[in-house]
Amino acid sequence: MTDYRAIVGDAKIAEIYRKGRKISKKHILNISSTPYGGGVAEILRSIVPLMNDISIDVGWRTMVGAPDFFRVTKKFHNAIHGDPISLTRKKIEVYEGTNLMFAKFTHVDHDLVVVHDPQPLALIKFYKKKQPWIWRCHVDLSRPNRKLWNYLKGFVLQYDMVVYQMEEFAAQGVPGEYRIIRPSIDPLSMKNMPLSNSTMRKYLRKAGVDVKRPIVSQISRFDKWKDQIGVLDVFDRIRKEMDCQLLLVGDIALDDPEGQEMYERLISKARKKRDVRIILGAHDIMVNAIQRASDVILQKSLREGFGLSVAEALWKETPVVASNVGGIPAQVIDGENGYLVDPHDHDGMAEKVMDLLGDKKLRDEMGARGKRHVKENFLITQHIEGWIDIWTEMLS
Ligand code: UDP
Repeated sequence: MTDYRAIVGDAKIAEIYRKGRKISKKHILNISSTPYGGGVAEILRSIVPLMNDISIDVGWRTMVGAPDFFRVTKKFHNAIHGDPISLTRKKIEVYEGTNLMFAKFTHVDHDLVVVHDPQPLALIKFYKKKQPWIWRCHVDLSRPNRKLWNYLKGFVLQYDMVVYQMEEFAAQGVPGEYRIIRPSIDPLSMKNMPLSNSTMRKYLRKAGVDVKRPIVSQISRFDKWKDQIGVLDVFDRIRKEMDCQLLLVGDIALDDPEGQEMYERLISKARKKRDVRIILGAHDIMVNAIQRASDVILQKSLREGFGLSVAEALWKETPVVASNVGGIPAQVIDGENGYLVDPHDHDGMAEKVMDLLGDKKLRDEMGARGKRHVKENFLITQHIEGWIDIWTEMLS
């Protein structure tokens, strides 16, 4: 934890240690759906070791389920983001049955349990609760499918506390106790640590990127809600006017059965396009290098829980042109550190990217403001403090 002194200062680190001592040795369990892919895994990978470093015994287990389970939970995910769903008895059996199985072979004797997102949400039904249970919601709850949300709420109501990412989502949530914790990035992880220019260029060349030409990128799981197909259309408009290249960097989360299909669709659409590269499964330093080297980062999501990729890019002083959805407006301040656009306004998005590509001074100024905004609001230290405060309150 002391490694973060240079970024947040001694006083903040001392405060975290002091607060942490109140729940030192408490045994806390996180349960999420995947160890890899997406923002939840990204955050837990940093938070869990750091909490242990300050003597809170925090653990993390991931759901085990057959492909059927993840097919159902992906349908749930899509419906939370507004898709229709037919909530059949079979889907409910698969969902609750897998949660029941997991509960049978996962013994919980911890002091507190944090369940992330809808996949393991139903676990609460299958335990004799001896400790506080928190549901941590990372999804965009602004316009959920009513039928599904009504079903899921039946589980949420059994939790002692719900932690949302934004007030706007809490408004759609359940009555009762809730808190807000903003997601965060770890400035010292491989994904976000400083890189020298020569290292950055080395990795870009490895990925076959021409470092001398302007770069526009989006870094996202291959998922219809990230709208990479729409990004191709935006890029076509930009490419007609300006010389530049597009990098679509993506991965397929272990809990996402639709990722492969989305990736293949994208490959077939992009095959004939000039200056488009699709990079699958880039490691963290490669993502870091691409976020740094890009002139503009796009985040053209149609729905977005938070969009950690946005904070990561801003931290690297790269301006972001992004959709005005979910948690993105908390990060991109329109005209300050990037631009917010309606996700369906492809011309508008292309124009904003071109404004930035054509003006290095504007990019530099916005980049500097972006880093400051992340430093003040979205660093892992603030996230750790947020959890310690909530856990202390619930354990006392
Ligand atoms: N990510 C990555 N490699 C990729 C695509 C995404 O490491 O090829 C990471 C990205 O850097 C970020 C996370 O996955 O840390 C995505 O989180 P976000 O909140 O943006 O979206 P989610 O996938 O959780 O919906």
